[in-house]
Amino acid sequence: MSLRTLQSTGDLTGKTVLVRSDFNVPFSNAVIADDGRIRASLPTLEYLIRAGAAVIVMSHLGRPDGVVDSTWSLEPVARRLGELLTVPVHFARDTVGPDADARRRALVPGEVLVLENLRFDARETSAAESDRLEFATQLTTGVDLLVSDGFGVVHRKHASVYDAARIVPSSAGLLVATETDILHRLTTDAARPYTVVLGGSKVSDKLGVIEHLLPRIDRLLIGGGMVFTFLAAQGHRVGASLCEVDRLDTVRGYLETAQKLGVGVILPTDIVVANTFAADADVTVTSSDAMEDTPYGASGVGLDIGPDTSRRFADLIRSSRTVFWNGPMGVFEMAAFAAGTRAVATALTEMDGLGVVGGGDSAAAVRAFGFPDSSFGHISTGGGASLEFLEGKSLPGLEVLGW
Ligand code: ADP
Ligand code: MG
Repeated sequence: MSLRTLQSTGDLTGKTVLVRSDFNVPFSNAVIADDGRIRASLPTLEYLIRAGAAVIVMSHLGRPDGVVDSTWSLEPVARRLGELLTVPVHFARDTVGPDADARRRALVPGEVLVLENLRFDARETSAAESDRLEFATQLTTGVDLLVSDGFGVVHRKHASVYDAARIVPSSAGLLVATETDILHRLTTDAARPYTVVLGGSKVSDKLGVIEHLLPRIDRLLIGGGMVFTFLAAQGHRVGASLCEVDRLDTVRGYLETAQKLGVGVILPTDIVVANTFAADADVTVTSSDAMEDTPYGASGVGLDIGPDTSRRFADLIRSSRTVFWNGPMGVFEMAAFAAGTRAVATALTEMDGLGVVGGGDSAAAVRAFGFPDSSFGHISTGGGASLEFLEGKSLPGLEVLGW
């Protein structure tokens, strides 16, 4: 279980290196809304440029499903990358077609070529291995080394992630190495006390993580939409809040397991309840065991953890040596329901030890609050991939790199 790393690949001077990055960034009105994933790719690209390699970068963007669709072109990403790097960045209008071919041949060491969206070709994500191998073979033609650095896709058995890494010599990039190292620490030798904070909309998304981490942690703090399934499992009424009734037994099982293991499951004592799901709703704070005893009765909807809970969660985070946080504590997109998420984020920036933020929405939340990435121990770039890692699953894109 040890990744092949960039540092062990030998002299790269004059070599052609193909990098699989994850440039799947959000757009708003055709403008990149958050370039975090592009910036996260820079250390590896800069390393390869300094090493004297000619660098070709490939990625997917969105789900164009094998159809060329200019809405999902990587050209704006290539342009942004050109602003962030000090070397020339070229862009090819295809992946394995004539434009990419010509530009690969013209590429010189120290320069970067970005290929068009991999998912314009249906073979990238094909379930048929022969399709993927054919595409991966074309992608790796003339390539000396494949560097896998798109952590957000390492749980996918895709041509550029998995098959390409079997065809030519391959290694993890710096981002994939860092992500793997940190997530591995969260599942093995985390410093204690070790606290996991879970929120977000659906408990069903996080069942595997709870199951795998419960024996490894000291306390589990729960907020967000998923907390109402926990409160309901304890017999409380939760009004019109999110609640997955088909998971009540599973959740009861976790509560029992936690008790046997001596893990503290800490649920909110107070909740911000709104009369409706809206930014300008009427709101009140109520005890979590009396959610329907408000003027809104059974139509009240819990949209954030309350201020007492925020304080308690923040104290528990600050007194931890390791924290993994995934999922907002409330509907942070609306200012009236952002306080709980902000309190958790703030506590993570104040703790001593390793504080890890996982999950796309959680990462978006801390950035929206204005925290620089550097104020956290680590912000994972891979939502689904980091959850699968923490569920103890084997990830094809890591396995192929020696993990
Ligand atoms: P992440 O992407 O960080 O893993 P999720 O995707 O699981 O997080 O959940 C994020 C979403 O959960 C956010 O859009 C947020 O509005 C929503 N959410 C949080 N708390 C609640 C709540 N009490 N009711 C409804 N939705 C909620
Ligand atoms: Mg999400």
